[in-house]
Amino acid sequence: MNYTSTRDTSQKVTVQQAILKGIAPGGGLFVPTELPKLNLSSLVGKSYPEVAFEVIKGYLPDYDEQFLKNILQETYGENFDNKAGNLVKIKKNLFSLELWHGPTSAFKDYALQLVPKLLLEAKKMLGEKDTVIILVATSGDTGKAALEGYKDLPGIKICVFYPENGTSEIQRLQMVTQEGYNVAVYAVKGNFDDTQRGVKTAFTDEVLAEKLSQENKRLSSANSINWGRLLPQIVYYVNTYVSLCQSGNIAMGQEIDFCVPTGNFGDIMAGYYAKQMGVPIGQLLCASNKNNVLSDFFKTGKYNANREFFKTSSPSMDVLVSSNLERLLYHITQDGAQVSAWMKDLAEKGEYQVDDATLAKINTIFKAGWASEKQVDDAIARTYKDSGYLIDPHTAVAVSVAEKIWDQKNPMVVLSTASPYKFSEKVLAALGNPVPPQQDEFVTLYALEEQSKTKAPTALTELSSKPVRFTEVISASEVSKIPSSL
Ligand SMILES: *Cc1c(COP(=O)(O)O)cnc(C)c1O
Repeated sequence: MNYTSTRDTSQKVTVQQAILKGIAPGGGLFVPTELPKLNLSSLVGKSYPEVAFEVIKGYLPDYDEQFLKNILQETYGENFDNKAGNLVKIKKNLFSLELWHGPTSAFKDYALQLVPKLLLEAKKMLGEKDTVIILVATSGDTGKAALEGYKDLPGIKICVFYPENGTSEIQRLQMVTQEGYNVAVYAVKGNFDDTQRGVKTAFTDEVLAEKLSQENKRLSSANSINWGRLLPQIVYYVNTYVSLCQSGNIAMGQEIDFCVPTGNFGDIMAGYYAKQMGVPIGQLLCASNKNNVLSDFFKTGKYNANREFFKTSSPSMDVLVSSNLERLLYHITQDGAQVSAWMKDLAEKGEYQVDDATLAKINTIFKAGWASEKQVDDAIARTYKDSGYLIDPHTAVAVSVAEKIWDQKNPMVVLSTASPYKFSEKVLAALGNPVPPQQDEFVTLYALEEQSKTKAPTALTELSSKPVRFTEVISASEVSKIPSSL
């Protein structure tokens, strides 16, 4: 199997190159040139790591099969509390796919616990000796998930930048207490955009690249445009389908729908790949928060990023440019030149308009909606009151959107992307117990445990006693100075 670029189909690379490079020359994203078909019946009764093997092996043709089986077991067994792909029934025909049982309590662990192992192996297979320095700008979840994934890996260093005062206190503590010999964490003065600008500047700094190359180092990114970030996410759509068959909730062949809380369009894109591989998915509901660029796009075919940016209670979905949508446009049109033209408009004018035929094709599969902050609070409160089930604000966006636009024809699975304990204060407030301002995060977390009679993930409660390792605050313009000092 080959990979090509969404903007130039004359490019052909192997999966190792796609994973190591992250982004294609000319700015396109790597996409597989064919999508393997699954035999779903043969997967019923298999464990999560076994299903994962069957799903991903076709995309990783040169990797040793035993190596893949080993890393999948290592990644998705005990490391996920033996709850990878855990499904909970909220009410009749409505299920929650709990994706937060990994080490950092957010769904990004599915990819970021696996990709580093694939990357390390890709380096070996390509004979790449340079030290890879991973730079990450994060608004919260990605940074911690990447640190956990890349810590203590030989030949790799990871450096994370987060906006000072821009993350939840738990998210900040998760990062500044990070263990590992090859990790570094900096707070950046300003907001997430400033942080991201600092990191982007480092990536395009030719003087820095030259200096690093003399030291046998090179920069790489861990963000979700890397094909390696997307691939592991296809697995849980497949696993959900076969689990529902096994538990007798659906018959083999029957359609199910998914509702996905969306930011960069990576997670929901994995659902599209699962459907193309043969999983009977009826509709994919794309759920946005108040930053509702995508739901406007699905209505009008116009992607317009020229608008006010809102900070919401679901910060990991506060995105105005959903990069992975480019992959969908490529698969729908199969036309690299056309995709390239749209992306040029986006870069130059902040917007692009797709034609009616393309939009119509997209709308046979996707349906989109968005939730206001009030509706998010309501969804948290109502889900708890009606079903005794606690959800975080990201999951609540999806629950709220599903309530509004799901036609109830097929069983519905909502992707639950973060533990409610990562956002205890918001969740408690939505449940009608606002905490006093400046309250200690852990007091809030214990209060939520007390109220809901559930347990916070140990990795989060343990943060209260972990030593802080990283305290440095820098300005965005100083980000470029960091890599050569690592
Ligand atoms: C990253 C993230 C999302 C959005 O996922 P995308 O792949 O960017 O669409 C949703 N919820 C949580 C908790 C996240 O961390």
